[in-house]
Amino acid sequence: MGETVTTAARIDGKAFAEGLRARIGAAAAAFTQATARRPGLAVVLVGDDAASQVYVGAKAKACEAAGIASFEHRLPATTSAAELLTLVERLNRDPEVDGILVQLPLPQGLDEQAVIAAIDPDKDVDGFHVINAGRLSVGQEGFVPCTPLGCLMLLQDHLGDLSGLDAVVIGRSNIVGKPMAQLLTDANATVTIAHSRTKNLPEVVRRADIVVAAVGRPGMVRGDWIKPGATVIDVGINRLAPTEDKPKGRLVGDVHYGEALAVAGAITPVPGGVGPMTIAVLLRNTLVAAHRHAGLDAPEGI
Ligand code: NDP
Repeated sequence: MGETVTTAARIDGKAFAEGLRARIGAAAAAFTQATARRPGLAVVLVGDDAASQVYVGAKAKACEAAGIASFEHRLPATTSAAELLTLVERLNRDPEVDGILVQLPLPQGLDEQAVIAAIDPDKDVDGFHVINAGRLSVGQEGFVPCTPLGCLMLLQDHLGDLSGLDAVVIGRSNIVGKPMAQLLTDANATVTIAHSRTKNLPEVVRRADIVVAAVGRPGMVRGDWIKPGATVIDVGINRLAPTEDKPKGRLVGDVHYGEALAVAGAITPVPGGVGPMTIAVLLRNTLVAAHRHAGLDAPEGI
């Protein structure tokens, strides 16, 4: 058996996110000095979904570490739509709150779109409000969803100018695929959006200098789908069935990492690639929101 050849550089999202969080921390301290208040993020969690509890806890911890005030609102699963909307409206009016995040998914019976629509678009640091989707689409200043913006940062850090590069985004969700394609288009890449109805997906992917996989299918993108030297961003987070040495189940991406390593020019690992960028960009969006609310220019380099 031949030895596995590794050609791909590992794009270290964890290290990049740590650097970004340090810059955000410095900028948040300067903001607090200038305005006599900390930037503030309100996180609303309804119900007791285990994964959501972990995410919300991690977001609050990251806020505090960066000098951003975190206001947590944990509500029971029995919360009514009216109660939730009343809280969102209160947060919209609260001058201490620059960003509002309602952790999804909401328990059954609560309409996610109605709740997102109730958030003040200028506090919508998740970038999920239709006003922010529209602003991104027409090139106006707004908020861009954290995960795709984090992917763009990693790509630009690794490749520099993306002009003229062929990019394939696999997945067309409102929170990852569509905004990712828009960001790459704005960065002058030539973009193809692939999805479950795409014909000859391996062939489509093989054309790409940049592959962003946001599907939710473990190891779907195989090594022989990838153009030699391409840059691969793996957004997927999939938990495999538990094994003896991994009783919680191993986390893998949408790309077959072992195979891709031998072909790609660079690739993000899972975990440690895109995942850590999402929270870092959430902090970044909150800091930017705070500057806008205070009438200050957003700090450079974040
Ligand atoms: P969605 O389920 O909303 O979207 C998945 C997309 O993949 C859809 O557009 C779907 O196509 C497409 N798709 C499904 N099967 C195939 C297939 N066989 N071939 C081609 N395309 C296919 O997922 P999300 O966008 O929310 O998330 C995608 C992945 O990214 C998940 O693993 C999720 O856990 C992860 N994620 C990671 C984050 C992070 O912080 N790193 C944040 C957000 C998500 P169609 O539209 O035709 O159905």
